[in-house]
Amino acid sequence: MKTYVTYLLLIAIALCSCKQKETSIVISQPVKEKSTTPLGFEVTPISHASMILHWDDTVIYVDPVGGAQKFSSYPKPDLILITDIHGDHLDVATLEGLETEQAKIITPQAVADKIPVNFTPQIDVLNNGDTKERFGFTVEAIPMYNLRQEALKFHTKGRGNGYVIEKDRKRIYISGDTEDIPEMRALTDIDIAFVCMNLPYTMTEISAANAVLEFNPKQVYPYHYRGTNGLSDVAKFKEIITQATTTIDVVQLDWYPNRKE
Ligand code: ZN
Repeated sequence: MKTYVTYLLLIAIALCSCKQKETSIVISQPVKEKSTTPLGFEVTPISHASMILHWDDTVIYVDPVGGAQKFSSYPKPDLILITDIHGDHLDVATLEGLETEQAKIITPQAVADKIPVNFTPQIDVLNNGDTKERFGFTVEAIPMYNLRQEALKFHTKGRGNGYVIEKDRKRIYISGDTEDIPEMRALTDIDIAFVCMNLPYTMTEISAANAVLEFNPKQVYPYHYRGTNGLSDVAKFKEIITQATTTIDVVQLDWYPNRKE
C-alpha cells in the first residue's frame, strides 16, 4: 500500500513539475490537481475556498465545506482553519462529518458562535491580530473586509479572519474574503499566498494583482474566484503579475473541478 501511495505521489510530482513549465493558463481545463512546493508543503484544492495543506507531517484543512465525502480520501485534519461565517467557508454538517476528534479548530468569534458547543473544547478563537501556536505552527489572524461602498455589506471588518501560518520562518498567507486592504499590502516575507478575486464579494483581478505586487510573495495561488457572473479572469491576473515582475510565481490549480457546483 505504501509503495502504491509513493508511486502515486511520484506521478503527481512529475505531473506538477511538467505543468509548471506551461506559460499560459487555460481556465476551461483543469490545470493541476495538486501542487508540491519546495517548502515540504503540498496543496490540494477541494473547491473554491476549501483546501487541504499538507506541511511536513501536519494536515491543515482550510474552510472545509461541501460535505465530508469530499475529504474522505485524504488524511484526517490536525488543524482546521475557518475564515468566515458564509456557507462557502463554514458548513457545520461537513465539520460534523469529518474525523475531528484529535483536531484543533481555529476560527474568529463569529464562526465559533455558529459551531455546536460539543466542538468548543477544540476551538481556539482568534480575532484579527491574535496569534496561536499549534503543532509547531504560529497562526496569525489577519483582517479581511471589503472596501468598496457597494460591497461593505459582504464582509464587515473584524468579523472574519485571513491567516498567516508560519513555521521555520516560512510564511503562508490565506486571504479569506477581502479586498486589497492595507493589512494585506503590508504583509512581509510571505512565501506562498492564496488570494481571492471574485465579484461582487471580494475584488477584481486587477486589485488582487496590485496588492500581490506590493506585498511580493514568492508564489501566489489565485483561489476563491467564482463570482455571480462565473469565474474571474485568472489569466489576466497572471498576466499583470508576470509583466510586472519575474520574482512572483503564479500557480494555477483547478479550484472548480465540478463546474456545476
Ligand atoms: Zn467566500
